[in-house]
Amino acid sequence: MCRSNQELWEGTGAIDTHNPNDVLLAKDLKPTLAVGFFSPSHDRYTQTACVYIRSEFKCELMITQQVLLRDAMRRLDMTRDAFADRIGSRRRALDSWLLPDESNEFRAMPEVARRFVQEILANATPRTDPSTQSVYTGAGPLTPGGPLRHLLSVDQFTRESAEDLFRLADVMLPIARRHKVTRVLEGAVLANLFFEASTRTRVSFGAAFCRLGGSVCDTTGFTFSSMAKGESIHDTSRVIAGYADAIVVRHPEQGAVAEFARATNVPVVNGGDGPGEHPTQALLDLYTIQREFSRLGKPVDGARIALVGDLKYGRTVHSLIKLLALYKGVRFTLIAPPSLEMPAAIVDRVNRNGNVVEVRESLQGLADADIVYATRIQKERFAEESIEGYGAAFEINRALVERTCRPDVVVMHPLPRDSRAGSHDLSSDLDGDPRLAIFRQTDNGIPVRMAIFATLLGVDKLVQRSMRDAQWTPPTFIGPEDSPFHGLD
Ligand code: ASP
Ligand code: ASP
Repeated sequence: MCRSNQELWEGTGAIDTHNPNDVLLAKDLKPTLAVGFFSPSHDRYTQTACVYIRSEFKCELMITQQVLLRDAMRRLDMTRDAFADRIGSRRRALDSWLLPDESNEFRAMPEVARRFVQEILANATPRTDPSTQSVYTGAGPLTPGGPLRHLLSVDQFTRESAEDLFRLADVMLPIARRHKVTRVLEGAVLANLFFEASTRTRVSFGAAFCRLGGSVCDTTGFTFSSMAKGESIHDTSRVIAGYADAIVVRHPEQGAVAEFARATNVPVVNGGDGPGEHPTQALLDLYTIQREFSRLGKPVDGARIALVGDLKYGRTVHSLIKLLALYKGVRFTLIAPPSLEMPAAIVDRVNRNGNVVEVRESLQGLADADIVYATRIQKERFAEESIEGYGAAFEINRALVERTCRPDVVVMHPLPRDSRAGSHDLSSDLDGDPRLAIFRQTDNGIPVRMAIFATLLGVDKLVQRSMRDAQWTPPTFIGPEDSPFHGLD
């Protein structure tokens, strides 16, 4: 039995669930976590619950002000101005509380403000709005919002579960930015299996796993794999599962990664399956959109999003549009020549919740977009078809942005962009322009993928208190052309 919070905190006492005092004590610590204490229990349950409460409570105390504030604004759907107003502080003060600790302008949030924010969050009614739920109605490991065993599709997410992941990504940020280190995945091995070309995504997954303290085994290409000798996906999956604790798979065929996941109990992450999905890219894109909008003072509900380029084979836009459809009143403008239009089945699913899909064949449709998301023509997926109709009129470049777009537009691209003449992909003449968010996107891939691994391997609660200071100093800006707010937003 615990006689005080101190004992509970230190683990020197155990909670007796039949003892009303202990129940009260636990409730006092964190009311939402004490619910289980009212159900009949046996010793093991009691102990586990006690440890759980203790670590949750400790984590809550250790949560940085930046994580707390961003989480609060996301949950309450509030812009920075509205939130500053709600907590009775100035917008400038709020901005300074949100900066990374290393910034000169960073200020510590007063304790009374922290308590007030915690109170507002505790009293906030959880969203029950059906519009925030995935339209996917699967069961088992793919249930939307259910526990993540594998990450195969954005259909597994509700708005709440995506935002829970973003909260964890915020916790990861000081590690991703190399100010802190952790070893929560020490000893764990990631198998990074890319049966299709990739540099960035493969390294991004690998770096995320390493930054959690794990190690990575990599393989790239199909020609050198056992699959080229006729091995089934089932056999490869089972073999690799015996070597590794998590598996990332990129495969040229839609559905192949799900088949891979069915043959193993080790968590599998879809790193892109043919023209199917690229769920981690969509999650890092949505995380980026939220961060950009937070800086610009816009909510994601009601956003105007233009998707441009190869919408037929571009798996990143297939995943992104489904994820964004969890928000309300979003206006999607789809701009592609008729031969590269978004598949009708995806458009039908998005057309709900007051979300509107508009199909345009010219870049004039960008005029009031908050986000312009350009994509590469996926030539490798063209069988007999020709890339008809994709000419200079589809190229997003500085002149077009100046002439057509809003001054606060955010230009995104999943990369790689095809810089060869005649590709008409996103032009490099926008490089160095703060409206171009492509490297903020790739940088955000690290905390988001760290959050995914930490969740899949069940160490999400351990990260915060495991952090230590890094022993080296990274450059303040990673890229010479990074915008002044890059990493500080
Ligand atoms: N979008 C990039 C790629 O797929 C990198 C990333 O996923 O972060 O290569
Ligand atoms: N890197 C992204 C993907 O793997 C986008 C692209 O390749 O164009 O889907």
